Amino acid sequence: MTAHSSVVIGAGQAGLSASYHLTRRGVDHVVLDADEAPGGAWQHRWDSLTMQDVHGVADLPDSPAPVAGGRANRVVPAWFAAYERMHRLPVVRPVRVDAVTSEGELLVAQAGARTWHARTLVNATGTWRRPFVPRYPGVETFAGEQLHTVDYPGAEHFLGRRVLVVGGGASAVQFLGELAPVTDTLWVTRRPPVWRDGFDREVGRAAVALVEERVRRGLPPASVVSVTGLALREQEREAARLGAYQRRPMFSRVEPDGVRWADGSFEPVDVILWATGFRPDVAHLAPLHLRSPEGGIQLDGTTAVGDPRVQLVGYGPSASTIGANRAGRAAAVAVARHLESADPVAV
Ligand code: FAD
Repeated sequence: MTAHSSVVIGAGQAGLSASYHLTRRGVDHVVLDADEAPGGAWQHRWDSLTMQDVHGVADLPDSPAPVAGGRANRVVPAWFAAYERMHRLPVVRPVRVDAVTSEGELLVAQAGARTWHARTLVNATGTWRRPFVPRYPGVETFAGEQLHTVDYPGAEHFLGRRVLVVGGGASAVQFLGELAPVTDTLWVTRRPPVWRDGFDREVGRAAVALVEERVRRGLPPASVVSVTGLALREQEREAARLGAYQRRPMFSRVEPDGVRWADGSFEPVDVILWATGFRPDVAHLAPLHLRSPEGGIQLDGTTAVGDPRVQLVGYGPSASTIGANRAGRAAAVAVARHLESADPVAV
């Protein structure tokens, strides 16, 4: 059995950045990625999401983000694929890690019958496979169609039907922008949306600091992307003119043909589109018992407080492309430090 110095799980922005920095530091490692092809979650995003729509994809180390337009689910995967090749990153795919266990000083990543042993681990599994849908009374009685952001099939799918968009993030804003000009829509959010003109760096930093503090205390992280405020782009003007962004507060229950508020008011809807975000995809780490009593994984920087062999990137405050990029470097530094302190001669 050979043991690597490190194993990275996931080859999205966070995993690629970590692998780049590990390579530069001469840390022998392997990257295990569940997808069939390069691109992380970007390859699964809906077709109408263009590079103009995204809030700015951050550079990878030593490789600026593409400036060209086009579909994000094509442009970003092509960039990642070239990056993996150019830097000869040791990505193995498709490998979906089911569990990570601890055997003495080593960590063992298991995928079916295959195993990889390593002295440290960088977890970079993102959130895409853990869509979050809140539970509302009566939801199981709804007779119409329910979809989550991950299922968004494009505006044509909804023609002639009344669509309720749930959620206060950028995805909800984009969906309404596409849907309102072609079909009847309704928008509900838990909190009144906060609109901004352009991206405010201070607001961005404050949002990251807030999530960082939660994660330091072991609380489940909130989304950084969702707390930076919302902006309407040119392509959403028509929807705005039609009143699509006049939101209503959350309903209190779902009924077979619509939703009802606590004051008794009712709106009939045919489709509920849950643009309600994601949760960290970390179930495979359960055997390591990293979860704190507060419900999250407590981190010091990118290092798991419960097991300093483990780094988490793209988690909590680093769950944005810029955060993932920086966290990859921080994780590589922490991995090298850990290896050095455990075995000063070997590194
Ligand atoms: P991902 O890109 O999700 O990559 C995770 C990788 O891990 C995948 O390749 C997956 O196959 C692999 N994986 C998962 N589980 C396993 C497993 N068990 N075993 C092996 N491999 C596994 N951020 C911005 O900065 N700007 C934006 O405009 C922006 N827009 C966004 C729009 C949407 C709809 C969403 C959902 C997010 C957006 N974000 C944006 C956030 C940003 O996309 C992510 O934070 C960022 O891409 C993080 O990448 P990642 O490497 O953490 O995860």
